[in-house]
Amino acid sequence: MKDSYRHKGLRQKLIDSLREKGIRDENVLDAMNRVPRHLFMDSGFLNHSYTDKAFPIASGQTISQPYTVAFQTELLETEKHQKVLEVGTGSGYQTAVLLEMGVRVFTIERIRELYLQARDQLQSMGYKPGFYYGDGYEGLPAFAPFDRILVTAGAGKVPEKLLEQLAVGGRMVIPVGDRFGQKMLLIEKEKDGKVKKSEHGHFSFVPLVQGKSK
Ligand code: SAH
Repeated sequence: MKDSYRHKGLRQKLIDSLREKGIRDENVLDAMNRVPRHLFMDSGFLNHSYTDKAFPIASGQTISQPYTVAFQTELLETEKHQKVLEVGTGSGYQTAVLLEMGVRVFTIERIRELYLQARDQLQSMGYKPGFYYGDGYEGLPAFAPFDRILVTAGAGKVPEKLLEQLAVGGRMVIPVGDRFGQKMLLIEKEKDGKVKKSEHGHFSFVPLVQGKSK
């Protein structure tokens, strides 16, 4: 499937609507405008690729809503060449957006089918993150510390190991709550090692589940 003029036109409209909904960082909007979301959608929902909603993908998971992707990416405040850990590869869409922001991405997924699909899709598009099939609760100690950590599934609490793997001066964005809804938390690790938490609205994610699945 290619990226046609029609797709590009629909995408531009979606980006304009995200700006109207309050996304201010033009680097984030530009990055999202470069990623053909339709290439990450389940075939049954292709016509909705540029609708600002989450949609089902394989294994009962979802591709995040574009507004949520924009919001989390904006809150993360990445700087070029930083090392970013993404927990919950899912479709790979958010991974592509992070790569378009000019950072190095390590992405981890607990469901094998999604890990394989997202890897194939991103590689076919020329994207080169590090792909890991495993439990995001554990993070990736071999590559820590990370300047930024982005969790794209709803956690019951902040996983201790992720906090340990966050660099001093780093930022972690993680939705925390229960299966009915989560608060978006920004966690900043300050120079003296102190941790500052702030809340940034309510969202609804599929749950962050402990342990690797088949
Ligand atoms: N960023 C994705 C969002 C996918 S939904 C996208 O844009 O499509 C969240 C994903 O997190 C799901 O694929 C789910 O399987 C994964 N996930 C949940 N718990 C996890 C864990 N402990 N480790 C790694 N991935 C996890």
